[in-house]
Amino acid sequence: MHDHLPLTSSSSAAAGLAVVEAEIGRACKEARRERTSVNLIAVSKTFEAAAIAPVIAAGQRMFGENRVQEAKGKWPALIAAQPAIALHLIGPLQSNKAREAVALFDAIHSVDRPSLCDALAKEIAAQGRSPQLFVQINTGEEPQKAGIAPADADDFLARCRDHWGLTIAGLMCIPPADEAPAPHFALTAKIAARNGLTQLSMGMSADFATAIQFGATHVRVGSAIFGHR
Ligand SMILES: *Cc1c(COP(=O)(O)O)cnc(C)c1O
Repeated sequence: MHDHLPLTSSSSAAAGLAVVEAEIGRACKEARRERTSVNLIAVSKTFEAAAIAPVIAAGQRMFGENRVQEAKGKWPALIAAQPAIALHLIGPLQSNKAREAVALFDAIHSVDRPSLCDALAKEIAAQGRSPQLFVQINTGEEPQKAGIAPADADDFLARCRDHWGLTIAGLMCIPPADEAPAPHFALTAKIAARNGLTQLSMGMSADFATAIQFGATHVRVGSAIFGHR
C-alpha cells in the first residue's frame, strides 16, 4: 500500500502499522467499542526477521504466523530480544507438529478436528503450557478449506470441553474470498455467543473494519502492514 513511497521495506512496514492502527481506532469508535477490546495480530508470514524488527520497534507485540517450521526459524531470537511478544499460529496445524506448536505459540487459531484435539491435549498436559485456543469454523462450507462446519460446531465445542478437557477461548473464520464477509462474521459471532465464547478471530487486511463491527476481538492483518507477499 506504500509501494509508491521512496521508503525502505522496513520503514514502510512501520508506516503500514500506523495506518492500520488508525483504521482500527476509527472502526472501534464507529462500533462504540474500546480500542483495547480489539487485538491486532500483525501477520508476518513470509517476511524475514529484518522486516519484522522495525514493527516490534514501533511497539507491536502480537504477531501471527501460518507455519510452525517458518516460525521456529525466525521467532526464538526475536522473542529473546523482546520477551513480551505474543505469537499466534493462524494457519493449519498437523497433529505431528502439536508439540512444537504448544512450545512456541501463545495462541492457536486453527483447532479443527479430533486428531488435533488429541495431540494438543497431550502436549498441553506434558508441557504444562496452555496456548489460547480458537476453533476454526468453515462458515462458507468450502471443501478445500479447514474448519468445522457451522452445523457441527456446538457438538465439537462440547467435545473439546468434555472429552479433551480443552479450554476454548473463541472462534476463528476465514470468509470465502468471493463473498461479502459480513454474513460470515455474523454467523461466527452467533455460534460463539450461544456457546458462551468471548473471543472472535476474524478480519484480515481487506475486511478488518467490518469484522470489528461484528465483534472481532482479534484481527489478523498481514499485507496492509508488511506489504505484498
Ligand atoms: C495470511 C493470513 C492472514 C493475513 O492476510 P492479509 O490479507 O495479508 O491481511 C490472516 N489470516 C490467515 C489465516 C492468513 O493465513
